[in-house]
Amino acid sequence: MTFKPRPITLDPHPVLRQKAHPVPFPLSEDHQQLIEYMIDHVRVSQDEEQNKIHDLQGAVGIAAPQLGYPLRMFVMRATDDNGHLQEYALINPKLLGTSIQKAYLKGGEGCLSVPDVHEGYVIRYAQALLKGFDYIRNKDVQLRLKGYPAIVAQHEYDHIEGILYYDRINKTNAFQEVPGALIIE
Ligand code: ZN
Repeated sequence: MTFKPRPITLDPHPVLRQKAHPVPFPLSEDHQQLIEYMIDHVRVSQDEEQNKIHDLQGAVGIAAPQLGYPLRMFVMRATDDNGHLQEYALINPKLLGTSIQKAYLKGGEGCLSVPDVHEGYVIRYAQALLKGFDYIRNKDVQLRLKGYPAIVAQHEYDHIEGILYYDRINKTNAFQEVPGALIIE
């Protein structure tokens, strides 16, 4: 695989704050190349040898605005509680619903596009139901994600809505506990 890293758009670039546009079908050559790059970027970033070669920060996902394109597509690649890899390259995803139960990562979140550290619990939902076109499987999918992959999907989905993770940290008490929430180690 010939992989050439592309620069990551950094906060406060305005593309990270706009609501991204739907991607037209059939996919253009440019849009296919972009989603293929995004899949490669995440895979390479998770490969211990390759990420050193390319000086890539490890990533469990990436969204098109992070490469400068206000388009509704993101890639996620995270392992669920059963040890299964949940890897999707979603185009025009739609968040159909969430659990009532909230969830957050005990260690907080980070983002390739946010160089500054924002400590605190990023309050999300324990489960997320999404649909969209999955470029990896070349078909429409409906995903019921739980736990860590659900968190990753919500983080990436936020990117196409112009939301960054620290927006979801309690402003007055960043480590405010949420009763009944799923805490993910
Ligand atoms: Zn991010």
